[in-house]
Amino acid sequence: MAAAREEKILVLVRLRPLSDKEVVANEVADWECINENTILYRNTLREGSTFPSAYTFDRVFRGDCSTEQVYQEGAKEIALSVVNGINSSIFAYGQTSSGKTYTMDGITEYTVADIFDYINRHEERAFVLKFSAIEIYNEVIRDLLSSDNTQLRLRDDPERGTIVEKVTEESLKDLNHLKELLAICEAQRRIGETSLNERSSRSHQIIRLTIESSAREFLGKENSTTLAASVNFIDLAGSERASQALSTGTRLKEGCHINRSLLTLSTIVRKLSKGRQGHINYRDSKLTRVLQPCLGGNARTAIICTLSPSRSHVEQTRNTLLFACCAK
Ligand code: ADP
Ligand code: MG
Repeated sequence: MAAAREEKILVLVRLRPLSDKEVVANEVADWECINENTILYRNTLREGSTFPSAYTFDRVFRGDCSTEQVYQEGAKEIALSVVNGINSSIFAYGQTSSGKTYTMDGITEYTVADIFDYINRHEERAFVLKFSAIEIYNEVIRDLLSSDNTQLRLRDDPERGTIVEKVTEESLKDLNHLKELLAICEAQRRIGETSLNERSSRSHQIIRLTIESSAREFLGKENSTTLAASVNFIDLAGSERASQALSTGTRLKEGCHINRSLLTLSTIVRKLSKGRQGHINYRDSKLTRVLQPCLGGNARTAIICTLSPSRSHVEQTRNTLLFACCAK
């Protein structure tokens, strides 16, 4: 038997355009995608600065690329491996306001549309497509589909690995149903915060789609087997939280938690990108525990690093690119 092919992590970079507000404020865009693989820093005022100016990845998307393009030419193959029974995870990593949510919401919708299309073309099997959504905030897991605020717990199941106990799972009916559920999640994330960005910059959101299927001819029979696989869409806490100096007391604990999950994640990503060698400490953070079944083994992973083009964000942009380089 041929050895399992080592899957590398797919690293995509998406540069967003300057926002209207940034244009009005005379912000300058210092980053340019010069081809499909290379992004260039071209602030000539910074000549002599020590950091490299060109970065190369599996694929980079310019500011005028649509989310559909990022999906079709980037994330699609990995997202849709779920229909072949392969678990996968797609992360959005980047500073707050760089376009993580914008990108992930779109990619989730395109994926669901393609999954429904696949289901409709395979009438010989019976499918259930399930949707769940959680938020990890200060190492506490909350159900984004439930209005009660109780903390969800993790349990190690001998067969299924780590599972989130009592998480709400909705059977997705169609694309409109997905949009309704995404709106509920967004409303839940707003609770208790002055703005969505306040909270989302400090918490991770994981949307999980699980496909279960069985052959219709065996339905209800003893030899019927159900196949199940999941794809996760992870909208990470703002990466500035990982590097920011932690000054104030109230935010200290929170900063440490975000640090811990982003650091654990980057350690794992680095190890996975080196060919899955060595011991991986998934237990170091809730984020990596939840995702464990979808990170190692046969699972496939893509990271979309989102970037602001503006000169005033250059330090964070560079940090994001350094993370992206580690994942290659
Ligand atoms: P994040 O989730 O990283 O904090 P958002 O996804 O909320 O950032 O994006 C910040 C703002 O920029 C939003 O108003 C969003 O609509 C806009 N935006 C982000 N990426 C793009 C893009 N590629 N093209 C156009 N607008 C974008
Ligand atoms: Mg966001």
